Amino acid sequence: MGHPGSAGLGVSLSDVGVQMAQMSGLRGIMEDIGVATTAAPGRRWLNLGVGNPAVIPEVAEWWQRLAAESLRDSFVDTSCRYGPSRGLPRLVDAIVDYFNRRYSWNIEPDSVVIGPGSQMLCFIAAAMFTGPSGTRSDSASGATRDTTVLMPLTPDYTGYQGLALTAGGVQGVEPLLHLEGDRSFRYVLDAAAARGRTDAGMLLVSSPSNPTGHRLDAEATGELLEIAHALDIPLLIDQAYGDPFPSIAITPTDPLRDSHVINSFSLSKAGMPGERLGFLVADERFVTPIVSFLANVTLHAPQSIQAMLARALETHEIDSVVASSITPFYRERRALVEKMLVQALPSGIAWRLHASEGGMFVWLWVDEEWFDDVVLYELLKSRGLFVVPGRHFFAAGSRLGRHSRQCVRISMTPDVDDLRTGIEMIAQAVVDLDPASVAGRHR
Ligand code: PLP
Repeated sequence: MGHPGSAGLGVSLSDVGVQMAQMSGLRGIMEDIGVATTAAPGRRWLNLGVGNPAVIPEVAEWWQRLAAESLRDSFVDTSCRYGPSRGLPRLVDAIVDYFNRRYSWNIEPDSVVIGPGSQMLCFIAAAMFTGPSGTRSDSASGATRDTTVLMPLTPDYTGYQGLALTAGGVQGVEPLLHLEGDRSFRYVLDAAAARGRTDAGMLLVSSPSNPTGHRLDAEATGELLEIAHALDIPLLIDQAYGDPFPSIAITPTDPLRDSHVINSFSLSKAGMPGERLGFLVADERFVTPIVSFLANVTLHAPQSIQAMLARALETHEIDSVVASSITPFYRERRALVEKMLVQALPSGIAWRLHASEGGMFVWLWVDEEWFDDVVLYELLKSRGLFVVPGRHFFAAGSRLGRHSRQCVRISMTPDVDDLRTGIEMIAQAVVDLDPASVAGRHR
């Protein structure tokens, strides 16, 4: 007999097994997309829900050239031999040199760890710094208690919700909602609420964020740093969309070097998601246990992609590719997608877009009582289009009432023609869902 959480697999799972066998809400949607498209293979499907970065031809060609050069020069050393768990020494040195020069940091190799994707590194950090048997004692009783991964500003990346090895191990803080003009809004950190979460073992935030594009400003960063220092816990800032690469924030922000900040970087949105490479930069006391964990679970990250990144950093070619191709691509895309949405969405309905601050997505909020993100998802699916319902990005503890069912994530990376058609379809579906549309009030 399987454990209740074994989903009928006929296998007995441990508590950790039950937890890790769960499928997050977003994975359920991805599965649903797979099932729907496989069931109707001849049908033309549009997918504005994808999390893939755009394939920008000149960027893909540049990575391909680096791959060819790396394979030619270092295939035997990188692919035919095991290497150190911290990462390929050449890449560790290149990272140290790059960040010290570019941001006037003073880091040493023991501040760096390279892993197979930033998702894995975030998972390891969560397992290392949060959960049961923490050393945090309750001041009143002296008893130790479980600590959580705290997402201080939700909605945030759904991938974080699978990071805890125990149920309830990932929590979110509800943000404040600031309306801006007629059609824009912004989530703002509720610093007082975040400060009250003394169960936090690690703060985790993406900036610019997936899904909203929200970027941590200096004030919010300062507040989070204060909390991290007061509790003596790490603040993991996930720069998957940030600087120095892929640099798809509207206003670039230098990564922050601080005794309590773990900086997470990824190569995925710079065009190489399939190669799985990310790295962390933080104080040695955080990095060293992560290196050991990595050694235990996977020995080390694949090495030929590490050699490629080392080349890209040593030559600084990555900076020119980012500046000439990646940053402008996403800046133009955002302007285009927002313009299309503004033109297409019905003027008589209360919709707003999250302030444009960066990232790969546009976050639409339909502030109407009757609007439901999953109902919209189902309607659009029946018409051959996928978007991502927003509710999955709100973690436990941060549901924000009806607002969390009124948002949709739209990806900016599909072809422009698909975006145009898809956005028209979204606008039409919103009109069709509006009970007042029958009376011909809109459009
Ligand atoms: N962090 C954020 C905010 C993301 O959106 C994603 C992927 O979509 C990841 C991390 C995963 O990055 P990686 O491919 O480096 O594991």
